[in-house]
Amino acid sequence: MKTVSLFDLTKEPKIAYFSMEIGIRNNIPTYSGGLGVLAGDTIRTASDLKLPMVAVTLISKKGYFRQEIDEKGRQIEQPIYWNPSEYMTLLPSKITVKLEDRDVLVQAWQYNEISLTSGYVPVFFLDTDIPENTPEDREITHYLYGGDLACRLKQEIVLGIGGVRMLHDLGFEIKKYHMNEGHSSLLTVELLNRFKKPIEGVWDERLVWDIERVKDLCVFTTHTPVEAGHDKFPYDLVTRILGEPIPLYVLKELGGRDNLNMTRLGLNLSEFINGVAKKHTEVSRNMFPGYEISSITNGVHTFTWTCESFKKLYDKYLPGWANEPELFVRVGRIPDEETWFTHLEAKKVLLDYVRETTGVEMNPDILTIGFARRATAYKRADLIFTDIERLKKIAEGKLQIIYAGKAHPKDEMGKRLIEKIFSIMNILKDKIKMAYLKNYDMDIALKMVSGVDLWLNTPLRPREASGTSGMKAAHNGVLNFSVLDGWWIEGHIEGFTGWSIGPNPTETLLVSDMDTADAEDLYNKLENTVIPLFYNDRHAWIRMMQNAIGKNAYYFNSHRMMRRYVTDAYIR
Ligand SMILES: *Cc1c(COP(=O)(O)O)cnc(C)c1O
Repeated sequence: MKTVSLFDLTKEPKIAYFSMEIGIRNNIPTYSGGLGVLAGDTIRTASDLKLPMVAVTLISKKGYFRQEIDEKGRQIEQPIYWNPSEYMTLLPSKITVKLEDRDVLVQAWQYNEISLTSGYVPVFFLDTDIPENTPEDREITHYLYGGDLACRLKQEIVLGIGGVRMLHDLGFEIKKYHMNEGHSSLLTVELLNRFKKPIEGVWDERLVWDIERVKDLCVFTTHTPVEAGHDKFPYDLVTRILGEPIPLYVLKELGGRDNLNMTRLGLNLSEFINGVAKKHTEVSRNMFPGYEISSITNGVHTFTWTCESFKKLYDKYLPGWANEPELFVRVGRIPDEETWFTHLEAKKVLLDYVRETTGVEMNPDILTIGFARRATAYKRADLIFTDIERLKKIAEGKLQIIYAGKAHPKDEMGKRLIEKIFSIMNILKDKIKMAYLKNYDMDIALKMVSGVDLWLNTPLRPREASGTSGMKAAHNGVLNFSVLDGWWIEGHIEGFTGWSIGPNPTETLLVSDMDTADAEDLYNKLENTVIPLFYNDRHAWIRMMQNAIGKNAYYFNSHRMMRRYVTDAYIR
């Protein structure tokens, strides 16, 4: 592996990007889903654009988990064994953090994300699995989102406080700290301690904390549109594990009175705060009144999320597209037949994979729907089965459906959802072919978003902060059929870039149960619009594929997103 010397790296002040999970490559299992894949896309783009960035995360030596599913649809979680030294270099530096009054050693693995433009971003994976640590402490960085609340807090101390210390130890000068969600918010506590200014004779002790200076250095991106989703720790747990690196009353003022709310801590100490789609920003402003919250809509890394056959097609007609996705504006140059044959190539790759892994033989001529998301209640993977008789009538012989998605090990509802889909799959098998791909990961995601004809998304509004898989689909000319939530509110032009499901988003709809109305609309459009168009007017369908590329992929890519972070957040 090519290593980039740290001497070169420390010359220029850097943006330090902190994320609990990073999907840097498929074989490095340190991600669970959208948040981590976004972090990976952020880093890949920073590297393409040669931005001065370093990234910090945890090593998650046993990954999130490998998903097995038995014949009844029951999920079985297995640890993932992988060897960091295959991809990265263990650095000699070790720093310590105090946990429960013990010194815990932390080391770092360096991975270099080197782009085709020869930019690079070093990623530091923090690791407590060091012989000098107690057996329990060695396991802190084993499982992504594993363990109990105390374990989670320890992970966040290692990430936030340990991360800042590690970057300092390696000699980096940091000009911005970007927190990707609240898991790394404790970095602000470390910075407060670093920039303490002793003022003699001042009666108010708070003045020694240079809050403005820390704020000036920090950028916070929130991804969670519901209150319950934000990390919170009771203060007795915090003081037991973390002690009082800053006095408790100061921490409470910054992080919330009753619990340490990691989002509040991040918000209170960041000069720039953003939501990840316009709607999500609006929801965040209502959830956290009093903060100035900007909006930068997510995007996906164009080269990573374009399948092989479309890469070749774009190379031929839009040379330079990968590092300049704006060139998708000229997608109209590509002849219809070539667009369609390119899509059929991608469809074949997916259907071959489905056959090899599940034994289900699907027909490439049949309209194929893809649905791959974390299996959790609000994503409503089963919405399309609200009225099975109706679905049969509409779709028999005209539709096949491919599913994938993991449920968090503690999400019993999510696991039951997978079982439900398996049982319906069995009931429908002679009418509508279905398959559930196990162990959803970045490789399977690319196969699915490029190999189906239609990308289905049915979250309960406004729970989908942004959603990014639909953007990946658009990069491969796959049409979105989605509830108007997250990015789709911005990307959707009815009958042009894809189709909506259910009513337009309004504040009053936020909590009401929309299942019936949404399902009704889904069936109506499937029956009267989508299925007829696919089978009867292929030309119009291909026009829409081109619109998905020329309008959606053109905009919802991470090159556009990162340029916004640079101008709005990093240099201001
Ligand atoms: C893109 C991606 C996600 C996120 O998709 P959403 O549409 O945001 O749910 C999750 N997991 C994997 C493996 C992905 O590639």
